[in-house]
Amino acid sequence: AKQIDGCSHCFYEDHFDKDIVYKRRLKRDLDKAIDNGEIYLEYQPQYDCQRKLLSGFEALVRWCHPDLGFISPVEFIPLAEESSQIIKLGNWILSEAISEAAKWDVAVTIAVNLSPVQFKQEGLIDVIRETLEVKNLPASRLELEITEGVLIQDSEQALKILKSLRAMGVKLAMDDFGTGYSSLAYLQKFPFDKLKIDRSFIHAMQANDQSLSIIRGMIGLARGLNMPVLAEGVETEIQHAILRSEGCNEVQGYLLGKPKRIEEYGHLLVDVQTY
Ligand code: C2E
Ligand code: CA
Ligand code: CA
Ligand code: CA
Repeated sequence: AKQIDGCSHCFYEDHFDKDIVYKRRLKRDLDKAIDNGEIYLEYQPQYDCQRKLLSGFEALVRWCHPDLGFISPVEFIPLAEESSQIIKLGNWILSEAISEAAKWDVAVTIAVNLSPVQFKQEGLIDVIRETLEVKNLPASRLELEITEGVLIQDSEQALKILKSLRAMGVKLAMDDFGTGYSSLAYLQKFPFDKLKIDRSFIHAMQANDQSLSIIRGMIGLARGLNMPVLAEGVETEIQHAILRSEGCNEVQGYLLGKPKRIEEYGHLLVDVQTY
């Protein structure tokens, strides 16, 4: 294991990842992890690439386990979802991200990922409304990133919740767009404010012409629906330049900033930032 930020990173073989004993342990340890301060958030900047301005941050959850080191959200979020631990974790993430954003001098948005399981939580709307009130953040500063998973299971119920959130003034972004199933139908039916193109498309963009055509299609589609588009996983100047010229509205990725502790981005939070 190597040390990064005082948290060791262990790289396991695939078969270990699937180990039932290991998963059971993670689930058990997750219960105490929040109380023990092992869970924290990193923030990744999002930029308006047309005007070259900071537009927001996405909050991404991290777990530094005392014995096992850094554990990826790709690993523990699904476990938390199986056991409904995601409700406590998700509420903590919302509260933490909202209270952080309320401290900033620049009025950029804070994007928070919502699990489909959280969506089924009784009283999700009240939790969000109360958290915004207590932390004193205008609803329009909160953007919820939602995947299609939410819409598939009970789409009438989902539509009701999305409409209530929107009525409150909260922004809604469709996350991982293009990776799911029948995305196009959902775009028409559900009231999203933004479309996030999954990074797999951005990654493939330079490797083949089809990928660029798909991205072009997604941007055109969104424009037709009057919806801004954010491209995630932008790693190179070339990707950035192409996306910009194709009319993409926002970008996020290692090129412009990795997810980091908010203190590392203090310089972005004092004044309107161009790049
Ligand atoms: P996501 O919502 O699609 O988040 C984007 C992922 O891409 C993040 O991985 C981010 O660190 C990574 N990323 C950003 N820019 C680049 C880039 O330029 N290149 C590459 N290769 N990767 C980039 P991360 O933080 O490991 O999160 C993975 C997934 O875990 C997220 O995918 C999301 O589905 C889930 N997740 C993370 N934080 C939360 C959370 O607070 N709540 C929930 N429910 N899920 C979360
Ligand atoms: Ca996301
Ligand atoms: Ca994604
Ligand atoms: Ca996602």
